[in-house]
Amino acid sequence: MIEEGRNRHRRRFRHIAAGLGLAALLAGAGQAAAEPSVSEVRISRHEGLTRISIGLSEAVQFRAHVLGAPYRVIVDLPPVDWRLGTEARLDGPPVTAWRYGSFGKDVRRIVFDVDRPVRIQKTFALPPKDKAQEWRLVIDLERISKDEFDRILREQRGTLPDYTAPGDEARAGQRARRDSPLVVIDPGHGGIDPGATGKNGTSEKDIVLLVAKELRDRIWNSGKYRVLMTRGADYYIALRQRFEIARSAGADIFISLHADSSPFRASRGLSVYTLSAQASDEEAAALARRENRADLVAGVDISRNDTRVAGILIDLAQRQSLHNAHRLAGAIVAALEGRVELVPKPLRSAGFAVLKAPDVASVLIEMGHLSNPKEEHQLRDPGYRAKLADGLMKGIDRYFAAKGKGTPARQGAAADAER
Ligand SMILES: [Zn+2]
Repeated sequence: MIEEGRNRHRRRFRHIAAGLGLAALLAGAGQAAAEPSVSEVRISRHEGLTRISIGLSEAVQFRAHVLGAPYRVIVDLPPVDWRLGTEARLDGPPVTAWRYGSFGKDVRRIVFDVDRPVRIQKTFALPPKDKAQEWRLVIDLERISKDEFDRILREQRGTLPDYTAPGDEARAGQRARRDSPLVVIDPGHGGIDPGATGKNGTSEKDIVLLVAKELRDRIWNSGKYRVLMTRGADYYIALRQRFEIARSAGADIFISLHADSSPFRASRGLSVYTLSAQASDEEAAALARRENRADLVAGVDISRNDTRVAGILIDLAQRQSLHNAHRLAGAIVAALEGRVELVPKPLRSAGFAVLKAPDVASVLIEMGHLSNPKEEHQLRDPGYRAKLADGLMKGIDRYFAAKGKGTPARQGAAADAER
């Protein structure tokens, strides 16, 4: 099953790459099982250009593009066996940092931060000169003016691959009735974007996935609701895609799970956020800024979203879904009170990009602070995570119970929304 899925996605990747005609190369002779391995990323200077070269056991299709604000160069590969740490030879500017990780289920992405506008002058693959050598994928970068860079961005708009993930771990229709409410759980971050990191090295992306699975199992076992996760493993999904997964599945509620890292070591407690253009306080505004950075870390073109999001926000204010989101947040806080530690005034709001589905009641839960040693320890504890998931389940129950038992849950919420 899993293999099948993967092959299907691989084909899609190939299609995307070939369709754009950026760098389509034949894969080496069919070694079926093993993924091509990456052993080196090197950045050097070559005839006035900056050359990124990636050492691989065989040639693969890859594609590269640039992004602005901040300047980045994105290289997408099919699944590979990554055999190097994060060390690379950085020969100084323009490349200031880089990172690697999953982007969607089937794309492996390298993001290079650059300190000035560049264009991709050419991409090609160098075959091995002899048996001992490897294939090299080469991306040559040329320094350009800001005007020229902006023109490239305009031209590439709409041509970048979307990698829309279908949503993971769908469990619908078997245990619960087909018309029972659909809960979408969104484990934040993933893959190339680890999210916040605790003192003991705990990654937010791992903790939120563990809690999400606990909650998913409870929802599934209740038989009262259908449940879907935006991701079920360690890969990244763009913020906009997360809520689009929920919308296209016809979700009733959307719960995004996070664990923050506060600049203040003493900060502790859980909080529940809803969307607003005006943040409830400065702390909430700063948190939303940190969370919205996820797309930036993962190399997503955010500029594409801007106009849409503004429109959606205005629209949203008039809709029932925001009212329902407040009720959902209230039900969750009421259910968690006394079970887990909450921040003072735990109901908060700010401009989280992931909460911008206009027709789904959406909340974001900061389950605790990885920057606080005690809370990091708690979130690593399976017993605590189970308690937390129990509380969240109670909150979901309260919310739907208040809406009327057994009613197909779309009642009220966005009944008029187009699907
Ligand atoms: Zn987060």
